[in-house]
Amino acid sequence: MRIYDDIQLDYCDVLLRPKRSRLASRSEVDVLREYSFKWCPHPLNATGIIASNMATTGTFEIAREMQKQHLLCALHKHYTAGELISFLEKNKTEFGNNDLLFVSSGVSDADYEKLTAVMDSGLVRNICIDVANGYSPYLISYVHKVRAAWPEALIMAGNVVTGDMCEDLILNGADVIKVGIGPGSVCTTRKLTGVGRPQFSTVIECADAAHGVGGMVCADGGCTVPGDVCKSLCAGADFVMLGGMLAGHEESGGDLCTKYIQTDEVDLLDDKTCALKIEEKQYKTFYGMSSAFAQEKHYGGMKKYRASEGKLVQIPFRGPIEPTLLALLGGIRSCMTYIGAKRLKDMPKCATFYRVNRQLNTIFGNE
Ligand code: 5GP
Repeated sequence: MRIYDDIQLDYCDVLLRPKRSRLASRSEVDVLREYSFKWCPHPLNATGIIASNMATTGTFEIAREMQKQHLLCALHKHYTAGELISFLEKNKTEFGNNDLLFVSSGVSDADYEKLTAVMDSGLVRNICIDVANGYSPYLISYVHKVRAAWPEALIMAGNVVTGDMCEDLILNGADVIKVGIGPGSVCTTRKLTGVGRPQFSTVIECADAAHGVGGMVCADGGCTVPGDVCKSLCAGADFVMLGGMLAGHEESGGDLCTKYIQTDEVDLLDDKTCALKIEEKQYKTFYGMSSAFAQEKHYGGMKKYRASEGKLVQIPFRGPIEPTLLALLGGIRSCMTYIGAKRLKDMPKCATFYRVNRQLNTIFGNE
């Protein structure tokens, strides 16, 4: 039995070391990066945060808000080709192009047919090919087929967690490799299968391998706060994909519901008696794309040979997404000034990490 002895780290296991810097203020840093790719000949100007192609975060509404901040969105694959095309037409009028949007595809024949219909519209260039297990032979052959069909497309494919597989996928036509198995906020793969790898170490190894052959990586899953996104970018991620951090907003998918919560406070009444204090709180559903709920909702039931590898949660409603995005960008800018990185691309080269036992003081709660 072979056991890898190297310590495998998550975002919570490290902190960034501040450095003497010539940057006096956050306004001096540039969070926009000009990306150029191995296969896709078209450069992209963006801050590499991508809304996950989950049904609750890869929505048209989130896509609009992301683009306003020069961020990206992978539209989910449960929209029909017609819905995607009419959105892409409108979006192009509003933003001038669809450069910050990905259309998503699985690897089945039906997925290819739909992808062809959308790509043939000429409205979009970026494709996110997404399977839970990127080690399946279908992924590499599908990437190959998509590259042959659309030589100028920007192809992102995943998910894997090892350098060798990143290299294979890039050499077969992918520009960006989506890395992460099991770190997601509503993912239960690790619980069910025992498979996965801590995300920080995944990003370091995969970025190194991908960059070595001219490709890039997108760190997918496991970010819980803006600081995790900063650590990911510093570890070498060219893009970071977010699900949970963008869920629960006005623009997110999922049903809104009201709950009445009993607090640990009481109301003192005029007659000096007390009444329980009940708070009305709104929640929005958020679910993993391989959860039993998603399989029921989007595929009309769960196949017998499949197990649920995701969960359904109700998270407190967070209102409009814009303040969340601005806080995220503010966090990245501030991180850049702490470590002396003037450009987003410089973050890994400016970063040094401490391995830590405890990163947050939670005496007054986790907020
Ligand atoms: P988060 O940002 O919420 O931590 O992670 C988002 C990522 O979790 C998604 O982009 C996707 O890769 C992954 N994910 C989404 N749904 C599921 C699921 O049902 N099962 C698993 N294993 N991963 C999921």
